[in-house]
Amino acid sequence: MLITMKADASAQATDSVIDMLTGRGFEVHTIRSSGAAVIGVNGMPIPGDLAPSLQRVAGVDYVQLHPSKYPLAARNARPHGTVVQVGETAIGGSEPAIIAGPCVIETRDQLLSIARDVKRHGATLLRGGAFKPRTSPYSFQGHGELGLEMLADVREETGLPVVTEVMEPGQVEMVAHYADVLQIGSRNMMNFPLLRAVSTIDKPVLLKRGFAATIEEWLQSAEYILAGGNDRVILCERGIRSFDQATRFTLDLNAVPLLRELTHLPVVVDPSHGTGRREMVAPMSAAGIAAGAHGLIIEVHPEPDEAMCDGPQSIYVDDLANIVAQAHAIGSLMHAQSPITIPA
Ligand code: PEP
Ligand code: MN
Repeated sequence: MLITMKADASAQATDSVIDMLTGRGFEVHTIRSSGAAVIGVNGMPIPGDLAPSLQRVAGVDYVQLHPSKYPLAARNARPHGTVVQVGETAIGGSEPAIIAGPCVIETRDQLLSIARDVKRHGATLLRGGAFKPRTSPYSFQGHGELGLEMLADVREETGLPVVTEVMEPGQVEMVAHYADVLQIGSRNMMNFPLLRAVSTIDKPVLLKRGFAATIEEWLQSAEYILAGGNDRVILCERGIRSFDQATRFTLDLNAVPLLRELTHLPVVVDPSHGTGRREMVAPMSAAGIAAGAHGLIIEVHPEPDEAMCDGPQSIYVDDLANIVAQAHAIGSLMHAQSPITIPA
């Protein structure tokens, strides 16, 4: 069962609905960081009189007895969309959010110089991996906590909030201490203990799509985070594995307008991993924003051929400026024309 409060319902009205339900033995999950509060009620047979009596409680807008497989993530839980605020950047609003930085943090000086460059070119968030999920155990695995310290230092110097990956439940507290947004990588989209661990922290989560995951599986992974109480989830389409080896992955741009219909969560596109090829990053960034994405996450490097990870898909820092300009131009055009029909 799903209870949606009125947009102007007070916090006390929401609390009294929660108390009423917990008092009757129900487990509830609430999302309330932006917009109207939504209360999900777990399992158990719901007595026939409950929905009509809830409907009469002050502040309740409507009650759904049989919501979808991802009731808290579904668009109808928050029809006007969720905006995730990170520092001064709103992800999910009308302006595309630009996240850029190296795949992996190499040195503090290099990270600082990349951060200054991407900021100058219009990025408002810095990415950089400290814990890296590498296919080979012999590849560089990242600097770990030292890398997180470098990120925090560079944030201090540049003012750019930082996005970085967390791979294990036991690392969540440490990564949350340093980062502004925690990234769950493609390979961990279905790491349910990790999803539960980030569901209880007070930091936004960028949830990448598993490269062999369906949209429904992805939204159910998001639901884990929402159900644990963290509704600041950003979805990231980063490409799926297809039969075609011509590109590293296939950026599934179908996902973008589909997600805009299915969920209220903001959606960003990763054209770097989605293509694996630097020369495709600009056109697929433009296409992602045209499809309705709320932002981009892009890998950049001063010397991509020397990069310790993902060089072939990393753009030269100076190529970011045009991508950002195009994203804003296309974003304002799309916004003005309102291409997305949001179901009532
Ligand atoms: C990354 O962002 O560098 C990364 C490892 O991404 P993904 O999990 O999408 O492969
Ligand atoms: Mn990478």
